Amino acid sequence: MGFSTTAIHAGNEPDTATGSVSVPIYQTSTYKQDALGEHKGFEYARTQNPTRSALEQNIAALEGAKFGYAFASGMSAIDACLKLVKAGDHVILGDNTYGGTFRLFDKVLSNYGIEFDLVDTTEITQVEEAFKPNTKMVFVETPTNPVMSVTDLEGVSNIAHAHGAKVVCDNTFMSPYLQRPIEHGVDIVVHSTTKYLNGHSDSVGGFVALNNEKNAEWIQFVQNSVGAILSPFDSFLVLRGTKTLAVRMGKHNENGQAVANFLAEHPKVQKVYYPGLVSHPQHELAKKQQDGFGGMVSFETGSLNNAKKVLENVKIATLAESLGGVESLISHPASMTHASVPFEKRQELGITDGLVRISVGIEDIEDIIFDLDQALN
Ligand SMILES: *Cc1c(COP(=O)(O)O)cnc(C)c1O
Repeated sequence: MGFSTTAIHAGNEPDTATGSVSVPIYQTSTYKQDALGEHKGFEYARTQNPTRSALEQNIAALEGAKFGYAFASGMSAIDACLKLVKAGDHVILGDNTYGGTFRLFDKVLSNYGIEFDLVDTTEITQVEEAFKPNTKMVFVETPTNPVMSVTDLEGVSNIAHAHGAKVVCDNTFMSPYLQRPIEHGVDIVVHSTTKYLNGHSDSVGGFVALNNEKNAEWIQFVQNSVGAILSPFDSFLVLRGTKTLAVRMGKHNENGQAVANFLAEHPKVQKVYYPGLVSHPQHELAKKQQDGFGGMVSFETGSLNNAKKVLENVKIATLAESLGGVESLISHPASMTHASVPFEKRQELGITDGLVRISVGIEDIEDIIFDLDQALN
């Protein structure tokens, strides 16, 4: 079955009780048992909820995974994956991950004996050299936020597996429409469904998709034990979102490329970060492992003052954190999403005070470009 057919039908069976074509919001905390120990597979709503189950089947199918679990946020999904490692274990973490992921490792997990090293995972040799006898996991994000560097998923997976370690990939920026990491050897895919999967900037959620049954059982056990579940209403919203994922991503992708091309030619822009530009250092790799380059574009304006002017003068794009919604959002990584990354590290990564990130929406491209042009000028 094709991607759109799966997106519209996987998990979306008409309701058996009423025939409702849209999966209902099962807003309940518990379920009637017909007799002691006799139930319909649903006992308590932290453990099972039909709306959440429908979404879990849906996104798992899109990622080409057997199992999927929906969480209250992208961060709680990532945290659940990290419960596959124990005190004394070592994790190789991409050095340019989402700021919140870095903070989770740096400020929370480090208190529980989980060791980690930040590694430039775009360089396979650096990944290879970072392995220690106790390395149990490699956590990557590709393309990264906000400088869009691309990691070779197959290369990293091969090395990790040779060392008996699992690979987790944060696929939030691409969505399964543009990249399915499991096809490249990755073991576990995580998402912030807050972004493209939901796609309408009206829900916060997370997802874990994987094939290994033993690991899946543990993720489900953690989901139920810790309880950071996605609510029935949010499950409904994301399930509605994924039905149009293919058409939305197609348009994000088209508009993203057009904005990147426009910025690359603009005299006020010093540098553009977008894997769809031939000038991007991993353009060929991106072409190989992605089905498109997406809607995220970052660009260097040269100074905080220039960045401020752009950010405060756009009229269509909204100055806000987050990404992946139908509306264009513009942000300043250094003071917003990456404020928790130390200053020196930010400079090293290219997250300068002049860097602006845009999540290109699906408005008319002429309007988006006109808006950016007037703000830059
Ligand atoms: C937003 C984001 C997260 C965190 O997700 P939340 O839903 O905000 O908890 C993790 N990774 C990436 C790449 C993100 O963009």
